[in-house]
Amino acid sequence: MKFPARRGVSWASRRGSLWALLMALVAALLVTLVWLSGRYESSLVQSRLEHDAAQTVADIRSGLTRNIQSFQALHPGESRPEAWQTQASGLLREHREIMRLEWRNEALDIVGLAETPYRRSVFEQLGRVSLQADVTPTCATARRLSGATYSASFFMPQADGLGLEVLDMCMPIMLAGRLSGYVVASYSLQDMLGELVGRQLARGVGLSFTEADGTRLALHGAPASGSRIYIAHQLLDLPGNTLVLRRESRLGTPALFPNVLTALVTAMSLALLAVLLLLARDMRRRQKAENELGEALAFRKAMEDSVLTGLRARDLQGRITYVNSAFCKMVGVDAKELLQQNVSSPLPVYWPPELAGAYQQRQETRLTGDTLPRERHESLFMRQDGTRFPVLIMEAPLINAVGKHTGWMSAILDVTEQRRVEELSRASQDRLQATARLAMVGEMASLLSHELNQPLAAISSYATGSLNLLQDQIAMADKDSAPVALAQPAAAGHLAAPLSEELQLAMRRIAEQAERAGKVIKSVHDFVRRRDREREAVAPRALLDAIMPLLSLQARKLGVRVLIEVDEACAPVLCDRTMVEQVLLNLSRNGMQAMQGAPEGPASAARSAQGGKLLTLRIRPAAADGPVRRVEFAVIDGGEGISASVAARLFTPFFTTKDEGMGLGLSLCRTVVEQHGGLLKFAALQPRGTIFSFTLAAAAPDTA
Ligand code: ADP
Repeated sequence: MKFPARRGVSWASRRGSLWALLMALVAALLVTLVWLSGRYESSLVQSRLEHDAAQTVADIRSGLTRNIQSFQALHPGESRPEAWQTQASGLLREHREIMRLEWRNEALDIVGLAETPYRRSVFEQLGRVSLQADVTPTCATARRLSGATYSASFFMPQADGLGLEVLDMCMPIMLAGRLSGYVVASYSLQDMLGELVGRQLARGVGLSFTEADGTRLALHGAPASGSRIYIAHQLLDLPGNTLVLRRESRLGTPALFPNVLTALVTAMSLALLAVLLLLARDMRRRQKAENELGEALAFRKAMEDSVLTGLRARDLQGRITYVNSAFCKMVGVDAKELLQQNVSSPLPVYWPPELAGAYQQRQETRLTGDTLPRERHESLFMRQDGTRFPVLIMEAPLINAVGKHTGWMSAILDVTEQRRVEELSRASQDRLQATARLAMVGEMASLLSHELNQPLAAISSYATGSLNLLQDQIAMADKDSAPVALAQPAAAGHLAAPLSEELQLAMRRIAEQAERAGKVIKSVHDFVRRRDREREAVAPRALLDAIMPLLSLQARKLGVRVLIEVDEACAPVLCDRTMVEQVLLNLSRNGMQAMQGAPEGPASAARSAQGGKLLTLRIRPAAADGPVRRVEFAVIDGGEGISASVAARLFTPFFTTKDEGMGLGLSLCRTVVEQHGGLLKFAALQPRGTIFSFTLAAAAPDTA
């Protein structure tokens, strides 16, 4: 899967703006909620206030009504002014809001009068007479309405410099259906508020009477100043006058959490914000995880694409569920085609048709049975062009996240190249072994010719000598008595002519055959040695590379570690490649065999860092001792070494200390090295082991 950077960025910015929008919406919602709850709360307060104001008005009204009843009680019948005055004074003591009570006759003249005991007379300053004009219309209205009537309020300046808003009430006194006079009561508006309102006023609540235009006439209580003040107006409708009652109040609770509702909404908003923040953090974590996952996926993809091992996953029904690109390349089929093929055909395209039956059987046993959880087997696959190739398949069960077995994962290696190399190395091994045998035969032939030449030459010369003697005898016999000799056959000391002829012939044949035998042996020797002339320039490293497969095979069998030390400065050498390889192989084999009997001591451990048996093949430029540069080859072992008695006969043909040995190896080596103009040397190593070494001439630069 690909993660194009541009798309990622646009997604991130889009997600960011979505988050911003969500935040803004939530914030707006919260603000609206808080505002609405605040408004709801103030409307509640307002309506409570209105209710309280109405209550206040009702209180005042009933207070006034009660007073009227008290005034009527002052006039049960005809009474004298003195008695009335005493009763009126008692009434005034009980009712602080009434400033003064007057009993007037029908002509509105004052008959009796009582003043409140709580303050100095309100009319002291201006005098009652000045107000006669106000009382008259009020009482006229009262008579017309046959009930208590109130005047408009008026201001009375007082002695202490302050003033008092006063309201007059006039009530007609009816006696037996006839008007007998009036009771006039003067109320102080401020005291009306103080005395007639039933409940005690709370702090921060103010009551006042105002005129229609808002002018305050009287005030009771301490109205608060500042913000969040609620005001309610109520009309106090009295006969003859209408007053406006104003009740004002401040919200008693702190402004931040006006009431439980607002507090609840605020708390919920805060909780919502917190959840939002947590969500955002979670989102950020998720995004990080997503990015990491994407990276891991890309990494895995790159890894899958880069490996050379084919990967193939199959489900429990044997259908291919995944292949990597290496596998597709291997079989030459598209991944899409391989995955689709599950439907179109039951057999994979890469199965060779002739083996499909066997493969299917194998697959079925694997699918049905509880075979080994991990297995490794070789198989043959087919490319799309029909060529077959060997593969190594390693299978492991696919276990999903919840531990369920869902299929099989196979790693497939194309082992074509491996097989080819193995084939090559087997071929070169065969070739080396063949030349080894041939070289042995050559060596044997040369030894035989060497050993047989002398006896053959002796036979030949004895035959020639015998022939000469025989001829001399015949010549002498012919000279003495040719006729007698003919007459006397088989005379003592003389041979008959025909016999001597035959003997001569036989002798001649013996000499001829002896010579021929020598020639035959020489020709065999020459045939085997004909390779001597096949010299070529070879890099020293190439000589080692050629014998390495065979050498490592033996080394593994004998538990020996082989160390190669090649000085790269070495020039190519001029040699018969096969024969020199043979020499190196022989010396190495001897060295490895010599180490078999040797116990592993501290010395050999010191030689090899890892301990164990170590055979070193060393090639380096030889110390110059002439005009031609030479290269030194050395085979070093840590074996038992060579005793003096063995050393004396080391190169003798057929000398061996091994049960299965031929005793020809070192002899052959020496011959080959000497044919190349070198010398095969050996020396003991301290504390143990032997070094065999020889030198070869370096090829002229132009030959190289
Ligand atoms: P073969 O290996 O068939 O015995 P060789 O001519 O190669 O014949 O060796 C002759 C003898 O020399 C061996 O049997 C062995 O005793 C001795 N010899 C050769 N190489 C070594 C060596 N590196 N260390 C000890 N002894 C050796």
